[in-house]
Amino acid sequence: MSFPYDAPVSQTLFDRASLVTPGGVNSPVRAFRAVGGTPRFMVSGSGPYLTDADGREYVDLVCSWGPMILGHSHPEVIAAVQEAVARGTSFGTPGEGEVALAEEIVARVEPVEQVRLVSSGTEATMSAIRLARGFTGRAKVVKFAGCYHGHVDALLAAAGSGVATFGLPDTPGVTGAQAGDTIVLPYNDLDAVREAFAAHPGEIACVITEASPGNMGVVPPLDGFNAGLKELCAANGALYISDEVMTGFRTSKAGWFGVDGVRPDLMTFGKVMGGGFPAAAFGGRADVMAHLAPAGPVYQAGTLSGNPIATAAGLAQLRLLDDAAYAKVDAVSAEIRGLVSEALAKEGVAHTVQAASNMFSVFFTDRPVRNYEDAKRQEAFRFTAFFHSLLSQGVYLPPSAFESWFVSTAHDTQAVERIAAALPAAARAASEAIA
Ligand code: PLP
Repeated sequence: MSFPYDAPVSQTLFDRASLVTPGGVNSPVRAFRAVGGTPRFMVSGSGPYLTDADGREYVDLVCSWGPMILGHSHPEVIAAVQEAVARGTSFGTPGEGEVALAEEIVARVEPVEQVRLVSSGTEATMSAIRLARGFTGRAKVVKFAGCYHGHVDALLAAAGSGVATFGLPDTPGVTGAQAGDTIVLPYNDLDAVREAFAAHPGEIACVITEASPGNMGVVPPLDGFNAGLKELCAANGALYISDEVMTGFRTSKAGWFGVDGVRPDLMTFGKVMGGGFPAAAFGGRADVMAHLAPAGPVYQAGTLSGNPIATAAGLAQLRLLDDAAYAKVDAVSAEIRGLVSEALAKEGVAHTVQAASNMFSVFFTDRPVRNYEDAKRQEAFRFTAFFHSLLSQGVYLPPSAFESWFVSTAHDTQAVERIAAALPAAARAASEAIA
């Protein structure tokens, strides 16, 4: 596929970046490698729009990979940040903002009795796994193929083949020892979990799962899957960890827990709770959290944990996220899903749109996607054509067929109309795409 050279300033920035930063980016998917072309360097965001360095405006369907659920530059979030910044940027002491944010999380998510703030989702899952191991005195961790929990060494193992099922490292730099206690299983397969517990009696510390996966595209748990995980963990003395870094405070006021009501032992959060700043958390049962330093022996710490600017932004955002806000995001998500599906159907493009509340993604296959193997069977080359057509018409999608799309309360009629106007040509491009 060839790309019109229509982003000269972004291209110049990318060339400069590539000299000083590996691959020109600070997080791999941003480099557009899956779709080709020049990554757009954004200079500002307002409501549902982003503006790039070449002065082009896009309707943003990435929302910073989830956090910007109120849209960009929400005036109340910006005001909270400005007020916090005027008082100083970091004290390395306890502060009231972090207490208030912890209280807000505990109030919203009933299974969270205590919570520890950290700075990224990766830190949250890494710490939750360490705590689960410390609490149970066991080493092994069960995760599911296609679920992403950040770049924690032990969690980068993913089943690429039957041999990989018992934790072969998936990236150079992760040793066999680091990944060797990770058991990777197919998603939505309770029998596989049952067999793993039977094969490793008394050895499994925890099962970690995305509450509703969004990192292989959106693949919600089948009815009873999360409840089955919880039951199997409880029966076998392991902890059930629900990773809500993506779904937390996005899929409902109480995240995915607010949707399926399955009570995890530990949960992880990030994205929305930071209001666009680096803030994340893990929390859950008080008796488990009591094992964390300084209350208990499991060590965990962070220079910038509970940073006053990040907590002010997160708190301001969470306080604006009431039932009406979620109803608005859910409605606009449903509207866009309908428009996408209609446009693709009109061009005869095989597709399946899957949603988890307002998170959604489009798979270029007509079969339902229940796990990573299903997701990989889609015709991803059609996504590439679809993506570039939308990009050239000012609609910014995640640059990969295996990512969730995100919307916000700021996606108004005008933004939806812009998407609707761009879809027919994008659907045609998808239909004409050649592998
Ligand atoms: N867990 C889930 C479910 C995620 O989606 C992500 C990031 O996308 C992470 C953990 C890691 O979060 P972070 O990128 O803040 O380290």
